[in-house]
Amino acid sequence: MNDDEIKVLTERLIPVPKHISFLDGQEYLIADGCAVSLRTCSSKAPAERIVSLFKAYWQVEPEIRIEANRQAGKRVPEAYAIKVAATELIIEADDEAGFLNAMKTLRQLAEVCRGTSKVTGHFLVQCEIEDEPAMAFRGVHLCIFPETPLWDIERQIRLAAYHKFNYAVIESWGVFPFETHPEFCWKEYAIDKAELKRIIGLGRELGITLVPQFNLLGHATASRSVTGKHVTLDFNPELQPLFEPEGWTWCISNPNVRSILSDVVNELCDFYENPPFFHIGCDEADNIGTCRDCRRQELKTLVKEHILHFHDLLQKRGTRTIMWHDMLVEQGDPRWKGYTAYGLPRHNLSQLYRELPRDIVIADWQYAYRDKEEPSEYDWPTAKFFHGENFNVLMCPWLDEKFMASQGRLVAEEKLLGMLETTWHKSHDRLFATIFGTAPCIAWNPFLPKTISIELRLSVAHHLRQIGWDMNVNEYEKTGFSQYQVDPGHHPHQLI
Ligand SMILES: [Zn+2]
Repeated sequence: MNDDEIKVLTERLIPVPKHISFLDGQEYLIADGCAVSLRTCSSKAPAERIVSLFKAYWQVEPEIRIEANRQAGKRVPEAYAIKVAATELIIEADDEAGFLNAMKTLRQLAEVCRGTSKVTGHFLVQCEIEDEPAMAFRGVHLCIFPETPLWDIERQIRLAAYHKFNYAVIESWGVFPFETHPEFCWKEYAIDKAELKRIIGLGRELGITLVPQFNLLGHATASRSVTGKHVTLDFNPELQPLFEPEGWTWCISNPNVRSILSDVVNELCDFYENPPFFHIGCDEADNIGTCRDCRRQELKTLVKEHILHFHDLLQKRGTRTIMWHDMLVEQGDPRWKGYTAYGLPRHNLSQLYRELPRDIVIADWQYAYRDKEEPSEYDWPTAKFFHGENFNVLMCPWLDEKFMASQGRLVAEEKLLGMLETTWHKSHDRLFATIFGTAPCIAWNPFLPKTISIELRLSVAHHLRQIGWDMNVNEYEKTGFSQYQVDPGHHPHQLI
């Protein structure tokens, strides 16, 4: 097989496996009765699941054989190996997630039989793959705005799982209809909870765990700051004491706030069926501590008690807290020059980290370098700092591919917990392939990064189309990276 052919086949894969070698010879035909060997250490190979995936992907029923694996137990979680020979397909893994990942790779590798007007079958070229993730947490942060239909969230979660992300943090922007506090939801944009529940279960089945987020410090408007909207105060002026006077942050000296937010956190944990993580936000709390009661107390103590209350509540439920890093590091501190640090001297929060439990996961978001002189190498000092202080750290890039690649390498080299790709209001149109193509490649294998290219965009489009087939999509607006081609905007308009 020549280099061009190898390049074509390799570029189809998102993410690219750690080791892959293609071989010449007769292709393996995926057909009824085709031989598939599952090698595993566990007595329970997920044979039924593999059969159902063969039916779903290629409409065939394979002949499954289960074999004990002599190499058992040596792989990291989610790792797998594949060998495609002329008449046999061998899949090795130590856990179900590994088998599922192998099937995702095989679906991307399989090609339809050529030379006919309609599909007659699929084949795989001969190859050998050894693959494993570079980091344990590979996440995408998705926002449900009032303008976001849930079918679009479902497509993004399916695609994220197909590209081997294993967590999706779900931040709903005033659209979750809380039973305990309905005033935290725009009532005409309330999401269908049954539908979100179905998507949480679907994620579990696809190998991606959904993690709830609710902002417990700043961003209390549940609306983008540039819009000036406030999900609660615009229609409920009587609830003003819960917030600092301008409404952007919660009033954390008010005991009613803690009680109300505990209801919210508990309701979300129940709804997400006791998730392993809960993201409490805590970024950009600019006007924190400005009301009469807060400004006369020590802010550091107020914030500490606030965070510890929710940390303890979550810990009792078996859920780990994730929080953004930026209020814990001070703007103007020369150690963070050029990097995101939003604590202000008047906040006096720069030593708060010392008093926080080390099982809090620090989500270090870095989207731009904010100094005029760009360094030749980015060194991500805040992430290294929190890692050095024994916190688990997630690196959180957004749209810049060079930052993504650099942050991914840092995670692998320093053995940080992982990466959380953020999307905000831009997970469509031209940026879709960066978020769902480049980022998962880097999260899986940061030493073999892909950057945006025509080939990558076409592969992301093909994979999204396969997902459309899985979802039985038959409406124009639900296909592709954007709802419309002309003036596509950044996120879909709600279908009426
Ligand atoms: Zn206050």
